[in-house]
Amino acid sequence: MSSAPTLPRTPIFYSPKQVADHAFISIQKLPAFIAGAKRQVVEPDPFTAADFKLAHKASYVDAVLALKASNGFGTRSASINQALAYSSASLWAAAEHALENGGIACSASQGFHHASYDSNFGYCTFNGLVIAARMALASGVKKVLIIDGDAHYGDGTDSCIQALRLGKSVINITRDQGIGHAQAGLKAEGWAAYTHELLQRHRPGLVLYQAGADAWEGDPYGSGYLSFDEMGWRDQGVFAACLEHQTPVAWNLAGGYTEPMDKTVALHLQTLTASDQALSAARPA
Ligand SMILES: [Zn+2]
Repeated sequence: MSSAPTLPRTPIFYSPKQVADHAFISIQKLPAFIAGAKRQVVEPDPFTAADFKLAHKASYVDAVLALKASNGFGTRSASINQALAYSSASLWAAAEHALENGGIACSASQGFHHASYDSNFGYCTFNGLVIAARMALASGVKKVLIIDGDAHYGDGTDSCIQALRLGKSVINITRDQGIGHAQAGLKAEGWAAYTHELLQRHRPGLVLYQAGADAWEGDPYGSGYLSFDEMGWRDQGVFAACLEHQTPVAWNLAGGYTEPMDKTVALHLQTLTASDQALSAARPA
């Protein structure tokens, strides 16, 4: 009698220090997701001002960190600034892991895509997506593809890409600019074909996938366009296509605002299951 094979598990990059004293669900859901994930996490080293300046105007970064300008929550808080330093760092740590080892890694982070080059709004302060993309480029990756599955337009990401003239090396696929209602109703195969086409067109060395939970039709912000099952098929299709192309993926937990937070956490755990299963399928015993 042989013991059951150990299935590959998606590594999760996360620090408890990402949780600040702010009640908003985008922060408070993180410990619930980690508890549900049932695995050890890898803790990143926090970012510094210099890291944030890879995506943002120096004076903006300095003002937020010195508590002379508000963060994306509209407050001035050393606790939130510390959380942000770990949150952005966890996405790069996941991306770096995926680049070095292939496959998929998860960053239990959120709150990036509305952070613009020199300003913030919508609960985003620093754009961890753009920072991770720039670090990947510095490590030798030629192109980074951001598949932003959040139900809202990633305007901050576009702002940073424009200000930093990254348009040829960082591709932002965001709501209604490449992803959105046009994909509603797709099964996993459809999402895989959709992702396959993006990978063929852009040939990225890294995918940053924001598995936004607010694309769920039951999300209270009302921007969702996918059923619970369709959300799972989206994740399955994206992961399957990336692994087939041998393109490393780092994904995170964007969006998702249900009260209580159970459904949002369930959506994120559904993404984690899809991630684990994609790794299993790609590494036959
Ligand atoms: Zn959103």
